[in-house]
Amino acid sequence: MVDTTNSAKKAKKIMIVDDDPFCTQLVKMMLESLGQQVDSATNGKEGVGMYQKNCKGYKLILMDFHMPEVDGFEATKQIRTLEKYLGMQVPVIGLTGDDVKQNPDIESKAMEVGMNQVMTKPVNIQFLQQIVSEFDY
Ligand SMILES: [Mg+2]
Repeated sequence: MVDTTNSAKKAKKIMIVDDDPFCTQLVKMMLESLGQQVDSATNGKEGVGMYQKNCKGYKLILMDFHMPEVDGFEATKQIRTLEKYLGMQVPVIGLTGDDVKQNPDIESKAMEVGMNQVMTKPVNIQFLQQIVSEFDY
């Protein structure tokens, strides 16, 4: 029997929201090598807009903390507010070059705005694989 529910889920994309094109390209390549389809946005405003247009098309969002216009914290807040009306919730993984150990407050801030987890840069493929399998539901 063909599990259409599952194959529909598999077709969902992962969104990378980051103002650093080098990081975006690297993470995109790693995710594609894991068989994932990827979309990217260069700031929080663009990312929220993309999610708003196609909220069912994404299974996971990787969200940089610091970006121009709308940062990752504000963008995640906006996504969570939007989702109250949509009745759904996409996992948001915070991405940061900040030293989380030196600055534990920034991780609490990420959780407060509704991020599910925080990943520190440089991103490695093992961690991405773990995130993909953990949140691929
Ligand atoms: Mg940044």
